Amino acid sequence: MSLDQALIEKITSEILAKMQVGKVQSCQEDGIFETVDEAVAAARIAYEQLRKLSLEKREKLIQAIRDASYENAEILAKMAVEESGMGRVADKIIKNQMAALKTPGTEDLTTTAWSGDQGLTLVEMGPYGVIGAITPTTNPTETVICNGIGMIAAGNSVFFSPHPTAKNTSIWIIKLLNKAIVKAGGPNNLLTSVAEPSITAANAMMKHPGINMLVATGGPGVVKAVLSSGKKAIGAGAGNPPVIVDETADIEKAARDIIAGCSFDNNLPCIAEKEVIAIGSIADELINYMQKYGAYLISGSAIERLLEVVMTVKEEKIAEGCTEKSKKSYGINKDYVGKDAKYILSKIGIDVPDSIRVVLCETPADHPFVIEELMMPILPVVQVKDIDAAIELAVKVEHGNRHTAAMHSKNVDNLTRFAKAVETTIFIKNAPSYAGIGVGGEGFITFTIAGPTGEGLTSPRSFTRQRRCVLVDAFSII
Ligand code: NAD
Repeated sequence: MSLDQALIEKITSEILAKMQVGKVQSCQEDGIFETVDEAVAAARIAYEQLRKLSLEKREKLIQAIRDASYENAEILAKMAVEESGMGRVADKIIKNQMAALKTPGTEDLTTTAWSGDQGLTLVEMGPYGVIGAITPTTNPTETVICNGIGMIAAGNSVFFSPHPTAKNTSIWIIKLLNKAIVKAGGPNNLLTSVAEPSITAANAMMKHPGINMLVATGGPGVVKAVLSSGKKAIGAGAGNPPVIVDETADIEKAARDIIAGCSFDNNLPCIAEKEVIAIGSIADELINYMQKYGAYLISGSAIERLLEVVMTVKEEKIAEGCTEKSKKSYGINKDYVGKDAKYILSKIGIDVPDSIRVVLCETPADHPFVIEELMMPILPVVQVKDIDAAIELAVKVEHGNRHTAAMHSKNVDNLTRFAKAVETTIFIKNAPSYAGIGVGGEGFITFTIAGPTGEGLTSPRSFTRQRRCVLVDAFSII
């Protein structure tokens, strides 16, 4: 009787296991599933299979991701611009290519060892398991390439939760990379997602017991959501990078660099220059040079008209003693995020040639263009009297994001003072902002910059767990 019972249980569990595998395989082998449950289950199987492969093989899979991403950089860029309606194809091609080439692989994983009288102790970087990665609409393909390489190099599989406005592009690249991985001899479904990405699906993923770690690349809402999840989470949040130009800078070079950084992919990168703080004595010269390098200067009522077009405004009544005061709060009009300067200017009746890449304006320090993260090629310039005022304002408008700041100066003391005061994850001196992620500057690239949780520029090691292995009284040969 007990034997029969055992047999029944064995057969039942075999059937269930087959059903589970069958369910996953019948859905797809390219990583896209109907439900979060199916996608997480498939990613779990892929993770277990990846664990059985050597590091050398893992690196071959990474190379396959690099090759497929690089070869398809242009089509991915076109799809992203077409679907999201944001950014510039030429710049997105560069971002995709750089993500493919400069995201670190397994070489980023290191071992720490102690040896001595009592033997040998190692600390190694092991995988988490299945990572839930939430990606932004502003960098849809770059983030999948960069997170895909980094997370798999660390030995994990990934469930991607893309922004719904870039869902087709995101699904397309997930399928593309899975095919490349399988062709290189890797498991199916190392990268997964659902056919209809949504905030509901993202929330289900965050709560799913099969997800071991969360990585959110996006605005403050999603960073807060992952940090409240109860799981280990990396939060790569919003920025509002200020750039200071002091009187010792090479003003023409500063102007050229700022326009190049600010206009790159129509200001979508979270690291892109969002407002300029210029010492009064060089501000006019800087503005003149910026116009030489592709900025169009507007003033007076044109700035007001632009504000009405690209921003939303809410007016609240606030009680102050016996009287009521009204307070305005501003948000961004998403229709203009990542749009060309020419298009934005056309909406206020100004026609400019295609060569214009940035809308430039002088504003007071508390203007909404300075305070809000616009992610549009609109660059406010604020004049201040000296470096003290510049640093104070820059720290204020960075809002404690600890994200990115830049400065053009030849005064080492000024550079050091600002870098110390602003406490950002990335600080760029005398270069366009993108130098801060290794484009025209030294160092590796990432599209997930974790200021709030402190991992900084994420790489494979960010997606690992530290594991200690101790052997007593042997293996030390000193
Ligand atoms: P977003 O915050 O609207 O969306 C980001 C992702 O989070 C999307 O996939 C979205 O679907 C999801 N999401 C948003 N709110 C959520 C919630 N409450 N619960 C679950 N999921 C949620 O941002 P976006 O417009 O796609 O991207 C732009 C923002 O991302 C900017 O603020 C930019 O600075 C930031 N960003 C930061 C980095 C970085 O590395 N720090 C990189 C790129 C973009």
